[in-house]
Amino acid sequence: MIQVTNKADCCGCMACASACPKQCISMQEDDEGFMYPVVNHSLCIDCNLCQKVCPVINQGRAEDPLTVYAAINTNEQIRMSSSSGGIFTIIAEKIIADGGAVFGARFNDKWEVIHDYTETAEGLSAFRSSKYVQSRIGDSFTRAEAFLKQGRKVMFTGTPCQIAGLKSFLRKEYQNLLTVDLICHGVPSPKVWRTYLGNLLSGYEPNGKHIQIKSINFRNKESRGWKKSNLVIKASEDNKGNPSTLLSEPFYKNVYMSAFLANLSLRPSCYACPAKAGKAGSDLTLGDFWGVQNILPTFDDDKGCSVILSHTGKGEEIIASLHIDKQTVDYSDVVINNPSIKDSVAIPANRNFFFSEIQKDKTISEAWDNTTSRSLAKRVQRLIYRQFSK
Ligand SMILES: Cc1cc2nc3c(=O)[nH]c(=O)nc-3n(C[C@H](O)[C@H](O)[C@H](O)COP(=O)(O)OP(=O)(O)OC[C@H]3O[C@@H](n4cnc5c(N)ncnc54)[C@H](O)[C@@H]3O)c2cc1C
Ligand code: SF4
Ligand code: SF4
Ligand code: SF4
Repeated sequence: MIQVTNKADCCGCMACASACPKQCISMQEDDEGFMYPVVNHSLCIDCNLCQKVCPVINQGRAEDPLTVYAAINTNEQIRMSSSSGGIFTIIAEKIIADGGAVFGARFNDKWEVIHDYTETAEGLSAFRSSKYVQSRIGDSFTRAEAFLKQGRKVMFTGTPCQIAGLKSFLRKEYQNLLTVDLICHGVPSPKVWRTYLGNLLSGYEPNGKHIQIKSINFRNKESRGWKKSNLVIKASEDNKGNPSTLLSEPFYKNVYMSAFLANLSLRPSCYACPAKAGKAGSDLTLGDFWGVQNILPTFDDDKGCSVILSHTGKGEEIIASLHIDKQTVDYSDVVINNPSIKDSVAIPANRNFFFSEIQKDKTISEAWDNTTSRSLAKRVQRLIYRQFSK
């Protein structure tokens, strides 16, 4: 049976829990806020299925993509509300128009990030835009399998390790399944996110005032464009009136985003990723085309440009059918500006200290300040700023 002795060996994909015939694996949150499988030994029949479907134990081979595109969704409104060039939505719309179901990550009513599905074009808006928190898969793998067995088209989107988990859970190829993963820097802890939101709201709720969050956009492009986007959170008081802006902060100045991009709040598996570089076996990988202004300046209006890595014939076919602005580009030109395609980030020496501060109920700002000296914090922020604006 599955036993996680080294936390870096579990990406939390839930393939084991979804596959267990006795349903004796539950996912439990650890002190850092990440979910790990725990087996109820009294119910386990030692069938070993959980180990057979684990994408960390059974890793795929790294492979370069067949074709690489710069791409832009010509619907400007959709592109502006997407993190990159809005390619997720246009592919998903096609699957929905063909009677299919689309799986992706959305916020629930507590502003946690979970996986879910939709069968309508309107339902896609909840999945649109990146949420920089690890999403909980829940029962999405078993639901996707049920749709596939009915012969329905399914588009499943997520991080490379979630796609690797889905594919090993399914244990066979389905012609009606399209898998789309993301270029993945790593996923921050749900506990760090919960703490950040709690800290933020407590600062706005003096005198018993109750604030309700109405929307969260990690990559709002409205005021500063795609390359220097803002984290924007809108809220209203006790459900009254139109939501007003609670927070609008450039990502490189925001403490939650700084901890994410300085690699302090990531899941242990993200420092030795089992699924990036094409190992997940997905049909397509979507990401930001960082550096497009130097490689293909006509594709840069600072409203968002996607990079699409197409890995399979199925991926090529769907890209050819889309009405988008696209151009093929060299893989090496893309990788050089976006190392997360192939490489895991290094584990910072002070990561454990950061999490120990969170466990002591410090605010995210206190944890960040205590972990990074003032000059280091400024240096990290400058580095992050430069990485995304070059
Ligand atoms: C945690 C994370 C790290 C990323 N790191 C990089 C990076 O280093 N370099 C890079 O180029 N791109 C990265 N991306 C991808 C990028 O931010 C966009 O998601 C991607 O380019 C798709 O953009 P879009 O405009 O086509 O669609 P959008 O509408 O912006 O994206 C929506 C898609 O993202 C999925 N999604 C959103 N949040 C999550 C989540 N928490 N977990 C799983 N899936 C999610 C949705 O299900 C949907 O498929 C990252 C995304 C996430 C979520
Ligand atoms: S060995 Fe079989 S029964 Fe036991 S936990 Fe794993 S999948 Fe479940
Ligand atoms: S990586 Fe996925 S399948 Fe493997 S132990 Fe962790 S949750 Fe289970
Ligand atoms: S970096 Fe790898 S392990 Fe971490 S969330 Fe992304 S795909 Fe999963």
